[in-house]
Amino acid sequence: MDIKALIREIPDFPKPGILFRDITTLLRHPEGLRYTIDSLAEKSTDLAPDYIIGMESRGFIFGTALACQMGCGFIPVRKMGKLPAAVHTVEYDLEYGTDRLQLHQDAIAPGSRVLIVDDLIATGGTAAATVQLVEQSQGELAGFAFVIELTELKGRDRLPDVPIISLIEY
Ligand code: IMP
Repeated sequence: MDIKALIREIPDFPKPGILFRDITTLLRHPEGLRYTIDSLAEKSTDLAPDYIIGMESRGFIFGTALACQMGCGFIPVRKMGKLPAAVHTVEYDLEYGTDRLQLHQDAIAPGSRVLIVDDLIATGGTAAATVQLVEQSQGELAGFAFVIELTELKGRDRLPDVPIISLIEY
């Protein structure tokens, strides 16, 4: 199935010069959504994760569906100030300035295997920051799964040497 054809491209969003890959048109397509989750699950099976970790907010959508499909738990990584219990925090660089992500300190049982899931990898900064949160929790990183990879930005070069799955490349 050609899920690339279901992803809409929006020029100059959120800023001039950026071509935004809009996955909402994929999500609303019943067979497209089913195929996407099935494909991610099939490619991730050998990684045998105990948990799927998804980053706010589009990582929640694919991550939760994948966790259900694979029989794993789902753990959210959230923007600063949203999680109610004790948290680990990581600060990472954006194009202009920095941002912070948080994870509940007790979310990952030490030594358990986690698969990091997001809709898209661009520079890899968000995924690399999430790796730091997994390390702070003493989780074992099983790999990464993305729907979309913007290969020119070489985001995967910033990630540790574990399997990196992506369904669509631009
Ligand atoms: P990175 O940290 O540079 O790899 O950027 C990846 C993060 O930015 C992910 O959480 C994506 O959801 C988001 N992102 C960046 N570009 C796009 C896009 O074109 N479409 C959807 N999300 C994007």
